Amino acid sequence: MPKVVTRFAPSPTGFLHIGGARTALYNWLFARHHGGDFLLRIEDTDLKRSTDEAIDAILAGMRWLGLDWDGTAISQASRANRHQEVALAMLKNGKAYRCYASAEELTEAREAARTEGRNFRGDLWRDRDASEAPEGAPYAVRIKMPREGEVTIRDAVQGDVTVKNSELDDMIILRSDGTPTYMLAVVVDDHDMGVTHIIRGDDHLNNAFRQYQIYEAMEWDVPVFAHIPLIHGPDGKKLSKRHGALGVEAYEEMGFLPEAMRNYLLRLGWSHGDDEIISTEDAIKWFNLESVGCGPARFDFDKLDNLNGHYIREADADRLLSIVKSELENNLSRTLEETEVARLSRALPSLAERAKRLPELTESASLFCNTRPLDVTDNAAKQLTGDALPVLEKVANELEAVTEWSAPVIKAAIMSFAEAEGLKLGKVMQPIRAAVTGGKQSGDLVETLEILGQGETIGRLRDRVAA
Ligand code: GLU
Repeated sequence: MPKVVTRFAPSPTGFLHIGGARTALYNWLFARHHGGDFLLRIEDTDLKRSTDEAIDAILAGMRWLGLDWDGTAISQASRANRHQEVALAMLKNGKAYRCYASAEELTEAREAARTEGRNFRGDLWRDRDASEAPEGAPYAVRIKMPREGEVTIRDAVQGDVTVKNSELDDMIILRSDGTPTYMLAVVVDDHDMGVTHIIRGDDHLNNAFRQYQIYEAMEWDVPVFAHIPLIHGPDGKKLSKRHGALGVEAYEEMGFLPEAMRNYLLRLGWSHGDDEIISTEDAIKWFNLESVGCGPARFDFDKLDNLNGHYIREADADRLLSIVKSELENNLSRTLEETEVARLSRALPSLAERAKRLPELTESASLFCNTRPLDVTDNAAKQLTGDALPVLEKVANELEAVTEWSAPVIKAAIMSFAEAEGLKLGKVMQPIRAAVTGGKQSGDLVETLEILGQGETIGRLRDRVAA
């Protein structure tokens, strides 16, 4: 097999949405699996709708997902001369012709075809000679579609798909202003870039038959097509914003890790036995087109959350620390002190056990920062009234007397205090938890106190007494 070359060809009219990200991932995995090239082409021919912001967002989204492309990204618009050249070559070899029909004539012909129940083929000038056109009249270039026979595309995902050539219209390949149409530009670029496999959404399947004819007309090798089913919402309907049809940057903001996203998008339409958790390394080893499913994939936030939780637990401690630290510094608008960072680094492994998204982790870690007096939730405030206050005052004094600040010693001190006061342990622990965490979710309380340190713990207890 010749070197595999795949490409991702987004139109920069918006962010890198989730479907596009999956298409990019599959192309990337397929190329990496075969030791081939993964190319990026920005289809910026629609100058009115293409924006630099969208290009930046697409590149940023790909970088965030870790989908590195080979060579530099190619701008389709910059290749307009080459597209024209191919259209002219097709005119020369008789596979295309000049169409001088005006917009009105075309509309009329389309209407007539509709009333007569025929397919409209746009072929008004197919059999006419250019000499019949007025001097200097503008013309578009149309492909001369074969009228007989049929084409079968052996799609690597959809299987064999056949279309009768008589169903295809003589589509325009070059507009009268000299600009190429999407159909022509895609084929010329894919050919020139040496693309061997075109993996894209199945909304492009119909285009494949028309594009096929351009390859034939130019006697170029036709690449392998693989049209992957679109992503639907969990209810089986077209993916909407509510379902998760958002830009990749929105997922970054929501606190998903790129490796979780890769794993999730991979499984959204591709499977390897019953495996749910698949590292990128294994994905590269295993990825194939045969195992891309034929039915529409359903987007499911719960699954994504679960995978993200897994990757948060697996993440390197320094990496998590630096993510959480910078988020906290952002939220608090200050640099964290060394003691706070040290606390975070001790607390994070157990906090990471429970977090599904990064903001949740940051939120639970925030209690290890110096933010006295703490904001207290309504629920926690209920634990901090009446009898609880003298208990807190006394337990603060007991804890101040502890000489070795370690979890077992802290625990022993609290237990002996409760016993001496004739209180159930819960009656002591609950207000301590409320005062020290402000009602935030936290793991083992004694461990939390140990990590917070003696001074901070006692300070927080006394803040409540004084409040
Ligand atoms: N630019 C097209 C799109 O964003 C993709 C073209 C292709 O993959 O052939 O839908």
